[in-house]
Amino acid sequence: MLPPAPSRRAFVPFVSVTNIMSLIHRIGLEEMMSGMADYIEEDFRRWELFDKTPRVASHSEVGVIELMPTSDGAVYGFKYVNGHPKNAAEGLQTVTAFGLLAEVDTGYPVLLSEMTVLTALRTAATSAMVARHLAPGSAETMALIGNGAQSEFQAIAFRAICGVNRLRLHDIDPAATRKTIANLETQGFELIACATAQEAIEGAQIITTCTADKQYATILTDNMVGAGVHINAIGGDCPGKTELHKDILNRADVFVEYPPQTRVEGEIQQMPDDFAVTEIWQVITGAAQGRRDDRQITLFDGVGFAIEDFSALRYLRDHLTDTGLCAQLDMIADPDDPRDLFGMVQRAHGAAA
Ligand code: NAD
Repeated sequence: MLPPAPSRRAFVPFVSVTNIMSLIHRIGLEEMMSGMADYIEEDFRRWELFDKTPRVASHSEVGVIELMPTSDGAVYGFKYVNGHPKNAAEGLQTVTAFGLLAEVDTGYPVLLSEMTVLTALRTAATSAMVARHLAPGSAETMALIGNGAQSEFQAIAFRAICGVNRLRLHDIDPAATRKTIANLETQGFELIACATAQEAIEGAQIITTCTADKQYATILTDNMVGAGVHINAIGGDCPGKTELHKDILNRADVFVEYPPQTRVEGEIQQMPDDFAVTEIWQVITGAAQGRRDDRQITLFDGVGFAIEDFSALRYLRDHLTDTGLCAQLDMIADPDDPRDLFGMVQRAHGAAA
């Protein structure tokens, strides 16, 4: 009997940082985030069929390392991601990530990718997709508080998806604001640097907070927030790390991804366990109401959920075809006889001798 042909599945497509950047330039950043937002929205519409679990977090005094798994029954995915606010001062990224898709039928991986850049895209795509459902329709001005790695991606996604064209920027470190302005000044925004968060939110219909500090921070207090705004709070995303005073949560209608995770990690960790929230997937499917009127404060307490990473990897996989922008990793041991793993190892020794 002939041995089975070597499986093509022994090689797993791998998207490096260099290749993800090439793909972004080939597709265009705005188009890529708009497309990704549509994939995320599509997966939120079929929310109920996914396996869901709060991410598995390993906390230390300086940060967190997390695994984020999910499956739609046909494809399984996970992301490894860290969050270390002190890293920036050491010349390192606060957030780094990589992720994988596998087919449920065989368990074989079908895609491995860098996800540090992809996370910035998917986070911005999620924020803007949610705002498309919750923010005032006329919103053109966004306050962008926290001008670190995520900030430009947030800005560009909000323009592509929500039509924001004016940014009021603030960071406790003025160098961060200067960096964001330098990166965005050729992108067609009106850009206003602000000395305080209070100044930044003046006249803004959307407020994005994406600061990193491992503490119960108070970037916004209740008296600062006027009627009718949409708040996109994405920086508070692990226990002991929040951005908003809890009085804002009492005044706003709060929308979340997956309550069992957000109650531990999000702004609502400050609130009682039965604090009322709406799951954003229900707004998307029409099962729950989003914005009721133009005086309502809507708040997206975004912590980042596994399905968003799954959608981003799914988008990536669909857009890699014929690009040549992936390497084939020799990652799966593939003996001719599946039961003869030992024999394969032995023969390799013979070949090496
Ligand atoms: P970063 O370290 O690159 O930037 C954070 C910025 O916040 C810095 O420029 C810092 O000076 C500024 N900052 C800190 N405290 C501030 C304050 N009190 N007022 C104003 N600015 C302040 O981090 P990043 O990669 O841009 O991430 C920002 C935050 O978003 C992090 O907390 C990260 O964990 C979180 N994040 C969330 C998601 C999600 O899905 N929700 C995804 C990615 C990152």
